[in-house]
Amino acid sequence: MASKVLVVGSGAIGLRTALELLRNKIPVVLRSAHHPLDKKTCSMGAGGLYMPYKCEDPRIDKWSSDTLDELLHLANDEKKKSLVEIVPTLYLMSKHGGMTTEDFKDFESKDYVGGTNIKTKFPKWTTDPRLSFQHLTIEMLEWQNHALKLKIPSAEILKKAGYNFGWLFNAPIVDAPNMLKDLLEEVYEYPVDINVDMGQGYANTDEMVADAKDHGCDALINCTGLGSMELCNDKDLIGGRGILLHYKRDCKRNFSDANMERDTAILTEDGPWGTSTDPVYIIPRGDVFVVGGTYYEGNTNDSLTDDERKRLIENAHLMGIDPSEAYVDEWAGFRPVRKTVRMEIDEETSASNGVKVIHSYGHGGSGWTTYVGAAKASLELLHSD
Ligand SMILES: Cc1cc2nc3c(=O)[nH]c(=O)nc-3n(C[C@H](O)[C@H](O)[C@H](O)COP(=O)(O)OP(=O)(O)OC[C@H]3O[C@@H](n4cnc5c(N)ncnc54)[C@H](O)[C@@H]3O)c2cc1C
Repeated sequence: MASKVLVVGSGAIGLRTALELLRNKIPVVLRSAHHPLDKKTCSMGAGGLYMPYKCEDPRIDKWSSDTLDELLHLANDEKKKSLVEIVPTLYLMSKHGGMTTEDFKDFESKDYVGGTNIKTKFPKWTTDPRLSFQHLTIEMLEWQNHALKLKIPSAEILKKAGYNFGWLFNAPIVDAPNMLKDLLEEVYEYPVDINVDMGQGYANTDEMVADAKDHGCDALINCTGLGSMELCNDKDLIGGRGILLHYKRDCKRNFSDANMERDTAILTEDGPWGTSTDPVYIIPRGDVFVVGGTYYEGNTNDSLTDDERKRLIENAHLMGIDPSEAYVDEWAGFRPVRKTVRMEIDEETSASNGVKVIHSYGHGGSGWTTYVGAAKASLELLHSD
């Protein structure tokens, strides 16, 4: 069992991991290149929606379930509930089944749709009863919406555009910047050696290990997200570029039906509005709506082009934002995408340095969906032989 641990990284994964250790009475030294609220921190700009995305690792089921436990608890906590909002979420599809077959590995069900008995597979996370997940035709959605009063396009608009099905579920949405602030504040409540604004950061693993030793740490947990591309020379890690515009949460947003009351997150990766590389989405997050987006692997442009801005403004209008409204901020970020999350003990580095090195990076587009589970998994690795 480690007596003191260097945690590197202060995004969602690093901060929550540091807290997991501190809550378990393990002393921590916390270091990161940038402050959690710096725009370079991917977790700061993210949509914060609970929905596994661009993370194929099978362990994600456990990590996201652990995260859901905590998010639902926070949403019901008087003091913390502003950090997590439970929002109806609609994922639109043109064809029955939606997402790619890759996402349908674990679950099979028989669905009776449009008079045809169709065998469909859904990802495992959709079976969690706490999400009240439903797979609906647009007609079923329209019928339900008489009671639900969700702010979504009318069935007529959706059908005309070619959307025939939707997943509807109640997703927690994390107010990402405020959650990071809150996590950092809790870390500061402990006697911790903190520098979360180093500027340069560690150049390589040797430097990180040497710093751990200098601070009397016998273990370190590397939560540097995409930073590990250079830090660990990890060729399996790649940035999945995403872009967003922010609109004020109290801006004019509605569709033609005057009865609609409840803010709803809407997403699609299907045409004609979206594609898998240019998805369209709106996420109500804290005091803003975030409107996206892109998923471009290997694109390193950290600002938006004029064409991208134009497309996002069109997306905002498709998602109900009134054309008279102007966006208030914009952001480009890079999801740390990897075939599997690197959540493991680095046996080689550990053996040669006498410091137990654990990696926890590469959570793709699912960092806020897995951050609590990832923190718990790191603690388990710390305890393991
Ligand atoms: C447009 C967009 C939308 C997204 N929306 C969602 C969503 O709705 N839901 C969801 O679950 N996920 C979403 N994500 C994904 C999510 O943001 C990431 O999975 C998550 O932020 C990864 O967290 P992290 O802590 O690993 O990385 P980061 O938040 O990037 O933190 C990395 C930390 O490591 C530090 N660091 C890096 N290199 C070094 C170094 N060499 N030395 C020292 N410190 C270093 C950094 O300073 C930083 O503190 C989205 C991402 C994007 C881009």
